[in-house]
Amino acid sequence: MESGTASQAEARSGFEGGPASAYAGTIDVRRPVDGSTIRSVPIDPPERVAEVVARVRAVQPAWEALGIAGRRRWLERLRDWMLDNEARLADVMQEETGKVRAEAELEAPFLCGTINYYTEHASEFLAEEAPTPHILPLKVKRLRIVYRPCPVAGVISPWNFPLILAFDDAIPALVAGCAVVIKPSEFTPLAAMEVLRGWKEEIGGPDVLEVVNGVGETGGALIDAVDFVQFTGSDRTGRVVMKRAAETLTPVSLELGGKDPLLVLRDADMDRAVNATATGALANTGQTCMAVERVYVEEPIYDEFVHKLTERVRTLRQGADGSSYGAELGAMTTSGQAEVVAEQVEDARSKGARILTGGNRKDGPGDWYEATVIADADHSMTVMTEETFGPVVPVMKVKDSDEAVRMANDTRYGLSASVFAGSSRRAEEIARRIEVGAANVNDVLTSYFAMGVPMGGWKESGIGFRHASYGIKKFVRPEAIVSPRIKQGKVDPLWFPYTSRRRKLLNRVNRLVNARGIRSRLGL
Ligand code: NAD
Repeated sequence: MESGTASQAEARSGFEGGPASAYAGTIDVRRPVDGSTIRSVPIDPPERVAEVVARVRAVQPAWEALGIAGRRRWLERLRDWMLDNEARLADVMQEETGKVRAEAELEAPFLCGTINYYTEHASEFLAEEAPTPHILPLKVKRLRIVYRPCPVAGVISPWNFPLILAFDDAIPALVAGCAVVIKPSEFTPLAAMEVLRGWKEEIGGPDVLEVVNGVGETGGALIDAVDFVQFTGSDRTGRVVMKRAAETLTPVSLELGGKDPLLVLRDADMDRAVNATATGALANTGQTCMAVERVYVEEPIYDEFVHKLTERVRTLRQGADGSSYGAELGAMTTSGQAEVVAEQVEDARSKGARILTGGNRKDGPGDWYEATVIADADHSMTVMTEETFGPVVPVMKVKDSDEAVRMANDTRYGLSASVFAGSSRRAEEIARRIEVGAANVNDVLTSYFAMGVPMGGWKESGIGFRHASYGIKKFVRPEAIVSPRIKQGKVDPLWFPYTSRRRKLLNRVNRLVNARGIRSRLGL
């Protein structure tokens, strides 16, 4: 398999920082804080993936037949189980990601909100529609659109938010009536496996949710077997996934990487902009798809902004905080990503940028990179053009808001953006000129938590959206049902045999209905 081979070669070469034993039939899941192994997880070969999909496919019709109300009851049990087990889920995830406690504890509560949102809105989002026929001859028909689930949805997820980025899509898919098979990241499979264990053993949920483990070969086999692919990850793998799905003409939704800009205009509230930049860039140690990855500041306030941002970032604590809530930054989840970060910072340094704080990998076990502020960055540097996905904030001086918008749009990505200005109205005007799927005004990251608006990327940041009605409608297919409203004769006007009399009559009716103006309607 082409895709699997590429991924495996990268993992073998250490580019991905991948688990060395991934090709001997198991994955060694590591603790990023010290590099030690937590446990080994068996890789699911293609035959097993096909078997798993076939099994859940067989159960899916019964799941669909439960209706939204029936499925809601099961998902509410999952919500209650997550609430009762949130500390344990946080433990599992913190261990495999190296996140700090406050961030590990965010994921299960967030997903409880996802369950409530979709179970409460599904009837509205997936309601049957009865459009009015648009031409006279069809007035005798009843038109309906019925939304039917894709039987099996495959969810391929990354390592940075192991629960949210698997279940924020798996939940609406289940609510829609699909069976779901998740392939979590090979770096962080344990949290999703723990939810699956809870679903099966403690909740006793129907056999419509599964997890398969592995890298490219397993992911490719999943794409081959399912009816819809929800992928979240890098744009590089996204392209491979889309090519693979093209072989079976399977629809995909791709949530990919970003290079999100934050713009600070001269009249912005300086302290709010500084605090927002630090949080937006460094939350989850910068390993967030919507992280602030580039900052553009207007000339008159540039020096003050850079100074205050550096002071702010210097106060942040980094470490393995266990359950003490004692740090804002944790470890880098993969050594491959730590390598990417180090290369970009060196590239910026060599091209004349100033590293005002941080700028180094930490010695010792595990994968750690310091919180880093870079001043005088520009678009000749990879740190301003390629996804960093680490704890680095590069700042560039711009002449005015027009230059800020131009630089913000000078990228192949288009996930999200933030704009800070003295008035929300002015910031919003600027936000509407940026080519992104979501913009936060005098704020950062918040759009992800607002379920009522779509989340997804423009340009090379993705295809398709999650959240709002988009997040569930992608998992269903419209079925058009056309049925009679009145008693029917033996032959309809458009059926055989064709006669000139009938054709002429129909054309006259067509002119009467579709022409505009009396003369034209009468053919005068
Ligand atoms: P990745 O692309 O390396 O891997 C993502 C998933 O794809 C993993 O489960 C991986 O095992 C699987 N995979 C790898 N090769 C495959 C193949 N050939 N066929 C099928 N599946 C395959 O991404 P990552 O390093 O895990 O995650 C980081 C990336 O994800 C960043 O680019 C980040 O911006 C992006 N991301 C995007 C969003 C979003 O919602 N837009 C959210 C989080 C992360």
